[in-house]
Amino acid sequence: MGVRRSRRSEARYLAAIALALFFLPPGTGWSVEPPESKPGFNLFSVREEMQWGKESAEKVDEAYPLVTNPQVLRYINELGRRLASLAPNNDPEYAWTFKVINSSDINAFALPGGYVYLNRGVIEAAENEAQIAGVMAHESGHVVMRHGTHEASQVLLAKVPLTILGGILGQSGSLTAQLAQMGVGFGVNSILLKNSRSAESQADEVGTYILYQAGYDPHVMAQFFEIIEKKYPQKTIQFFSDHPVPESRIKAVDREIPLLGPAKAWKTDSPEFQEAKNRLLSLPAPPRAKPSPSVSSGTPPAPSSRLTKFEGNGFSISYPDNWRVQLNEDSVALVPPGGIVNAAESGTAQAYGASISRFQPQNSGQGNWGLIAATQELVDTLRQSNPNLRIIEQKAMNLKGRSALSILFETDSPLQGQKERDLLVTTRQRDYLFSLIFISPESTFDTYKPTFLAMLQSLELQ
Ligand SMILES: [Zn+2]
Repeated sequence: MGVRRSRRSEARYLAAIALALFFLPPGTGWSVEPPESKPGFNLFSVREEMQWGKESAEKVDEAYPLVTNPQVLRYINELGRRLASLAPNNDPEYAWTFKVINSSDINAFALPGGYVYLNRGVIEAAENEAQIAGVMAHESGHVVMRHGTHEASQVLLAKVPLTILGGILGQSGSLTAQLAQMGVGFGVNSILLKNSRSAESQADEVGTYILYQAGYDPHVMAQFFEIIEKKYPQKTIQFFSDHPVPESRIKAVDREIPLLGPAKAWKTDSPEFQEAKNRLLSLPAPPRAKPSPSVSSGTPPAPSSRLTKFEGNGFSISYPDNWRVQLNEDSVALVPPGGIVNAAESGTAQAYGASISRFQPQNSGQGNWGLIAATQELVDTLRQSNPNLRIIEQKAMNLKGRSALSILFETDSPLQGQKERDLLVTTRQRDYLFSLIFISPESTFDTYKPTFLAMLQSLELQ
């Protein structure tokens, strides 16, 4: 969905100026109409969005080390709230809570409902208050234009019929859990954070407007994004993956600014910013840079023999209670600590644990496919991302009365230089192929096997 802003007519422009001069107390300066673009299609009420944002923020707070320095937090929250108060389409319900993650990677993201996270690295990289205000104004743009729930709405609509959705969204209880059951979940790379290029353009547009209103040079935002990308290419990978660069960002912002009004005596810096930055710089170095604390190269501890149950959509399974559940866009991963590792090309990959997903066969006949053909199709898809996949053994099995297939693979582990063993189990569930993959490096597969079999035995399908 493209978001474009039409040029205002001279008459409206002059009317805005006249109104501003008439109504505003002296010294307030110009007031112009907010950007014309509005939030896109959305299935969620603001209340639901708030609930989802809050639950997701709790998970972020658990997953990331946070900076707790009170002066830094006070400064960031005062600045953030001042900027957010100028945002168009603001909702009085929004939380407008700004937190600082103790990571030297340059990143920032916003969750629905006004939960904004800045990495310590992005504040340390900013040269002045205007630059960090630019990042915060841009993130506020994502919030007020409801980009997280807009994306989720589109994914949901493609997956779930509206009649069912209405019932689910109307229920009380954890919205996060309900959405997770539909495969729309919070993960470090979840759709809550992934913005499209058109969403980026809209956040730029809103950010530009906010900066202008707050008295900062609105050019600074897009310029700062360019500076950090050039100056710190390794530290900004996540930022530009969460915020894909819109086409000709600087030009778009340059076109936008004259529409906002004349240049002002821009505010650039403040002693408070420099003080907050210096406080951060004087803190102990952040923990060794990792995309997320869930990513590790260490060997996971042994699986606990105590199992706990995960209730998914149409299935339940028990897993060791020292593992955690990671809800991805199209799968549920059950992962031991350190089971997700950095992989060369693909960002992160699961090296240990189990991954559950549903597969819709495309070529195996409409709803009339056989288990073997559909499984073959799934294996072909897996082979695309794992070219060295080799089948060691396959057999038919019985899964509590259901026909199932089990296939043992060998492939390359995301752990460098290691081979991996995967045990894939498939069975038909309604129109889908239900698939469960148990994953371990070859060297530890036999150690994990009893856990995998206990999990398989606990699987209940509806
Ligand atoms: Zn963005």
